[in-house]
Amino acid sequence: MRFHRAVYRFWLFCTSFCYPAREVPFQAGGEINHSEYHAQFLRPFSAEELLDIRRVADFCADMVGWVTDYQTITPRPVSAEQTAIFTAYCRSNAELAPDYALEIYRRLRIFHKQSHVRSFFWGAYDRAIAEKLPTTAQDREERLAKAILREVYGEHDTCHRCHAVGGLKLYGKTNWHWMRGEFNWTKLRGLLPGNLPPNKYEGGRLAQRACTPDGYARMMEEIFDARCASPQQMHAQAHAPGAGAWDAEGLYCAACVEVLLGERLWVWCDARQQRESDSVREDCCYGWGCRTQVHNIEHAEMLNHFCMPARDDSEDPESHRV
Ligand SMILES: [Zn+2]
Ligand SMILES: [Zn+2]
Repeated sequence: MRFHRAVYRFWLFCTSFCYPAREVPFQAGGEINHSEYHAQFLRPFSAEELLDIRRVADFCADMVGWVTDYQTITPRPVSAEQTAIFTAYCRSNAELAPDYALEIYRRLRIFHKQSHVRSFFWGAYDRAIAEKLPTTAQDREERLAKAILREVYGEHDTCHRCHAVGGLKLYGKTNWHWMRGEFNWTKLRGLLPGNLPPNKYEGGRLAQRACTPDGYARMMEEIFDARCASPQQMHAQAHAPGAGAWDAEGLYCAACVEVLLGERLWVWCDARQQRESDSVREDCCYGWGCRTQVHNIEHAEMLNHFCMPARDDSEDPESHRV
């Protein structure tokens, strides 16, 4: 109920100031202060109500960031600085209304509206909350963390493999689809072994399989399913570091999901192609270490590279073929 009420209030705020973008009325002789103008909307609310609205606004900003990460097709190293820049970008744009966040979540694609209003919600909120709660910024942050939620179930849940406390940031059967924000398909490609990541043909096929509405959930379900792997690959998995720690019912932190994908994503890709295709491609003798797959698309398409190298490409004089 508190969540719904806060959503509608934030939505009303966005509608009042953004759709269509409304200019602040011209005031002769004075510089226009957008934050102050927007703060007038927020002042009638109590401190608790303001904190709830802020949580909803943060949620919408997070959703925009999540979809942006998902659709990013170039590798983007995530650093604290970049996150801060991105958060600042989100917060200075008026495109964060709940209906927009819901729409981009459904489409999994960011689309830009024409209404940009600088110093959007957060500047106005800072003004209003400082008047209602004239304590310290730290105190306001602590209260914000508890806004809307009365109790958080699973807050102290631990990772099944490394036992680190991950709480709601853990991944498992019920939320594999959320992974795509953290593991976009470019990152998935990077987790394949050897020279498979720059293999454009296989990269395209991986994107086709994973980037569907239920693609990630299905992929993870099958990755935990041993029947997906051939006997030879089962043997490889059984001897892989960390084997045995994986249970389809478990919850895992992002670092452990990365280890799991590093071990099994290529196995899954191979199993998937065998299921989907009637004709089985011959294995390239250099397996995933093959260098030709990187620059020769016909070779990448003709031979299978989801297999362990039978020969070492880097030491083979014949490997300078095209
Ligand atoms: Zn872990
Ligand atoms: Zn090859």
